[in-house]
Amino acid sequence: MKDSTISIPLARPDITEVEIAAVTDVLRTPFLSLGPKVAEFEQALARYAGVEYAVAVNSGTSALHLIVKGLGLKAGDEMITTPFSFVASANCALFEGATPVFVDIDPRTLNVDVSLIEGALTPRTRAILAVDVFGHPAEWEALERLAKRHGLWLIEDSAEAIGARYRGRMAGSFGDAAVFAFYPNKQITTGEGGVILTNNEQLAGRCRSMANQGRGKAGQWLQHERLGYNFRLSDIHCALGLAQLSRIDEILQRRSRVAQAYARRLQGMQGLHVPSAAGHVDVSWFVYVIRLSSRFTQADRDVVMSRLRDKGIACSNYFAPIHLQPPYRALGYQPGDFPVTEGIAQRTIALPFFNQLSDEQMDRVVTVLRQALESL
Ligand SMILES: *Cc1c(COP(=O)(O)O)cnc(C)c1O
Repeated sequence: MKDSTISIPLARPDITEVEIAAVTDVLRTPFLSLGPKVAEFEQALARYAGVEYAVAVNSGTSALHLIVKGLGLKAGDEMITTPFSFVASANCALFEGATPVFVDIDPRTLNVDVSLIEGALTPRTRAILAVDVFGHPAEWEALERLAKRHGLWLIEDSAEAIGARYRGRMAGSFGDAAVFAFYPNKQITTGEGGVILTNNEQLAGRCRSMANQGRGKAGQWLQHERLGYNFRLSDIHCALGLAQLSRIDEILQRRSRVAQAYARRLQGMQGLHVPSAAGHVDVSWFVYVIRLSSRFTQADRDVVMSRLRDKGIACSNYFAPIHLQPPYRALGYQPGDFPVTEGIAQRTIALPFFNQLSDEQMDRVVTVLRQALESL
């Protein structure tokens, strides 16, 4: 991307003096990792999501990987998930030799179309991993019923949805285990980071051990009870996360206000679909993704994106279908396999979206977008 010409970025973290002071304070202690901030951040996250256990790790991807491994998925096992997501939500099965089995999405929510899941079950199915795409919760009650009926693990990829609610219940509290992620484009950030959330004590213990070189509960430095990784999150990261979490209500409110301000400006614009929430959910706004109506082609969308970029406005095609990425094509997936995902993915445009986005910047984005659409 021609970064030097971009004047309105796609995303920006919301970092204040509170975060800077919190990180600086840790640097004045000897505990840069495995210190008190890790447990403090974990407890705050568990309380926020309303679950018993939280295990902080170095990325959302690591969190998903440890859940899949901790639940015992292995070669030959199948995990149902969707191709309209960030690649990590399917990769986490492949890491363990398990097979991600894709089902298509509901075009209204962009989340798994629950009515398609039973048709994809086989005797090898062990788990369903559903994603709260763009901060919009999946249909968790139907997913819970289905998982129970078929004796499957249920995993919530809530990397994009911290603070969202489904019928009043918090994202991150569904299924057997869930993750949040804290890369700088997420609602709150630790620079890099993620967390495993669960009410399953055994699973939490296994994940904690695997994230810390396979060490046991007593944490003896050179005692390794199982094969483990170094997926730890440092105290520096956790202090940043604690400061961000202390401001989360304000952060989410600001994001919601920016989304509303976009919706007002885009209202009535022809040929465009703007994001909205199904009635029974509260969205936690992660990105602001519009899509061109179905009379437009992928080429039209790409023209609009280059017009935006030419004017210094960053944008992105959230998401590129996972099943069409090379490692998944190698498994036999092809264009046409998931028509809803593919049709939507060809027409999405993520617009600049962050807390400090000004009215003037939004006006500019919308003006350039309108001109680009009119020129098609
Ligand atoms: C961001 C994200 C992840 C992974 O997070 P990282 O911290 O970047 O590893 C996983 N799933 C989804 C849906 C995401 O958006």
